[in-house]
Amino acid sequence: MKKSVTVLGATGSVGHSTLKIIRENPDKFQVIGITANSNVTLLAKLAFEFMPKFVVISDLRLLSDLETRLAHVDIEILSGEEGLDFLASQKTDILIAAISGFAGFKPIFKAISVGTDIAIANKEALVAGGHLLMPLAKRKDVNILPIDSEHNAIFQCMMGQHWDDVENVTLTASGGPFLSITREDMHHIRPVKALKHPTWNMGAKISIDSATMMNKGLETIEAAWLFGIGREKVSAVIHPQSIMHGFVRFWDGTIISHMAPPDMKVPISHALAWPERLKIQTEKLDLTQTAGLEFIEINNEQFPCYDLAHQLIGEDPCYAVALNAANEIAVSLYLDNKLAFGDIYSLCIKTLDMIKIGSLDNYQSVIDYDSFARDISRSIVLSL
Ligand code: NDP
Ligand code: MG
Repeated sequence: MKKSVTVLGATGSVGHSTLKIIRENPDKFQVIGITANSNVTLLAKLAFEFMPKFVVISDLRLLSDLETRLAHVDIEILSGEEGLDFLASQKTDILIAAISGFAGFKPIFKAISVGTDIAIANKEALVAGGHLLMPLAKRKDVNILPIDSEHNAIFQCMMGQHWDDVENVTLTASGGPFLSITREDMHHIRPVKALKHPTWNMGAKISIDSATMMNKGLETIEAAWLFGIGREKVSAVIHPQSIMHGFVRFWDGTIISHMAPPDMKVPISHALAWPERLKIQTEKLDLTQTAGLEFIEINNEQFPCYDLAHQLIGEDPCYAVALNAANEIAVSLYLDNKLAFGDIYSLCIKTLDMIKIGSLDNYQSVIDYDSFARDISRSIVLSL
């Protein structure tokens, strides 16, 4: 029996790796729906290849273009937020959450609500809405399987283990492209340099987050929600080789770690096939050639975004929603050359200073609070 799969963000980097795995295993998976924001050309190409039941284009202006391209095939074409919600509400065996940013939160909420298991790459949804998504998943008996490589590593380290026995969890960070650059020298660095990640090939937003190391801070929040652990139990360390993705230290002194080549196909295939494993085409690690694995403490003076996010674990969820919103605004302005690299941190901390705490007890309140925090960030940018 094939697993039915929905791929949100099919045209992105994680979407691409997911579809590669499905392509290699046509007997195991059937694609039910795929989505994109605006890349209509690639979306139409993927629709012809995988023949899903549904295709969603979020940008409403591109609907007629997509309809023209898919005029002669039997695929239901949907658009906008409504289309995305509709697709997410169609129960499948697993949904790959690979939209980047907070835009992925609502569809994930909808998918959990109908009982679909989630393979989650979209960390921003967990950072902002983990306090609702995780309890909802528990109530609906839904599995949330991490795709983010570090979290997938921890998930694998914990197979057959008990959380009561765990002293702490460490996520590894490559250190990004600016590991040997001072904060002052980073301040005016251009996007073209920040986008060049040393070990991973990823979408623009996460590449900039890796350069500021906000990504690793967001990942500690993501881990706290995924594994139900507090701030004192999760931290990160720089490991430039990106071979060991995470490790768990137990009270008896044992450390269990997870190693794999830096290829997103590894964690994606694990989440897709769980509880089984797939044979996939990927580089094989030769441990005789991987001498000199380094582990370096994160320098908070050099990368203040890491600690800013890490400190929010266990605080009121409004702070994480606001941090995520401010960071999305900052990264987008930076990519448009409208904000200096060093001001990404400034914009985030100023936004956190200005918010008022509200109640975030349903998904609409989280969405409204995200908009509120974005408005504050935009008003701060005007005065920077
Ligand atoms: P990409 O930018 O490569 O892809 C994002 C995907 O989401 C695209 O399909 C894009 O469509 C779609 N999308 C973007 N914005 C919206 C929106 N507002 N509404 C609907 N769809 C949208 O990102 P990545 O694949 O790199 O990352 C996806 C998520 O996975 C992120 O949360 C990231 O943090 C996480 N992640 C990524 C890793 C990686 O290796 N890339 C590793 C670990 C986690 P379109 O193509 O049309 O713009
Ligand atoms: Mg990661």
